[in-house]
Amino acid sequence: MFKIILNNIFDTAIIGSGPAGFSAVLNLYARKKKIILFGNFKFSAIYKAKKIKNYLGEKEISGLELLDKFYNHINSVNIDHISKNVSQIFYNNEIFSINCDNNIYFSKTIILATGVSRQKNIKNEEKFLGRGVSYCATCDGIFFRNKTICIISYDKSQEHEIIFLSKLAKKIYLFFDYKKININTNKDNVIILQDTVKEIIGENNLVGVSFYDRNKILECDGVFIFKKSISPKELLSGIKINKDKSIKINKNCETNLSGVYACGDCAGGIYQLNKAIGEAQIAAQNAAKFLDKNF
Ligand SMILES: Cc1cc2nc3c(=O)[nH]c(=O)nc-3n(C[C@H](O)[C@H](O)[C@H](O)COP(=O)(O)OP(=O)(O)OC[C@H]3O[C@@H](n4cnc5c(N)ncnc54)[C@H](O)[C@@H]3O)c2cc1C
Repeated sequence: MFKIILNNIFDTAIIGSGPAGFSAVLNLYARKKKIILFGNFKFSAIYKAKKIKNYLGEKEISGLELLDKFYNHINSVNIDHISKNVSQIFYNNEIFSINCDNNIYFSKTIILATGVSRQKNIKNEEKFLGRGVSYCATCDGIFFRNKTICIISYDKSQEHEIIFLSKLAKKIYLFFDYKKININTNKDNVIILQDTVKEIIGENNLVGVSFYDRNKILECDGVFIFKKSISPKELLSGIKINKDKSIKINKNCETNLSGVYACGDCAGGIYQLNKAIGEAQIAAQNAAKFLDKNF
């Protein structure tokens, strides 16, 4: 079940704990806004950079060292930080509801700073999203009570969702894309398959999945996919995307949705630190203006 966090309606929810998200935090904090930050800085693109030589004031620094400095700076200001991924954002009555790890948070504005989603979609994943394909066990698990489902897990940290689904579904075919699966369901309805799903199959309705290694269709009623990162379109329905899959913004970092801003790599190239940090400042200042005008 969802836990609704109602004691706080935040001014701005910042989705993404990379350089852009951190820069947005500082700029909104300076304007005395009530902020909540989501995401884990260890998944920032810069985490893996061995040598950075174009960051002003640092002749040479590793991505990890720089992120550590950023994170210490963010920790010195008093904000709420949930170091987990947001799975979906909804809009209703001028307030955004943010689903993160089965808790719901509320905010008046959103800044998307999610970086580039490097996770490729499975064929037909988008076609059946909301019509048999789901990213959220708690939201949609109930529709698959006593049914057969496939789970494709790319994210070890979401294994608890598999256990949750095993209590509802009749049968689960489980595919995973990391070294070792570690679930103990106490039930024999979970069949672990050492294979890779190639395509979600169906004309109008989802009927199953096919594999790379075998010429076979595995029939099922639904497919749950647990990813490390999801695309902006899947995160926030109705958001406009460019051809290169980046979020469409104007020079004020406004998206097509009122109260929603985007900055950094998720808003397209140049894919560089300084651009991400600067753009986040523009997004934050415009979000602050929007708040002052409308709330
Ligand atoms: C190997 C490598 C080397 C690089 N070297 C340089 C360099 O030398 N100089 C330079 O200027 N640039 C460099 N870059 C580019 C630089 O890393 C990026 O431009 C910069 O990190 C973009 O910042 P960002 O905040 O937009 O995105 P990111 O740093 O990617 O951060 C995105 C954040 O959003 C989080 N997130 C994603 N989805 C969700 C969600 N649904 N809910 C919550 N959080 C979410 C992620 O976990 C992450 O914390 C390099 C990149 C790589 C990969």
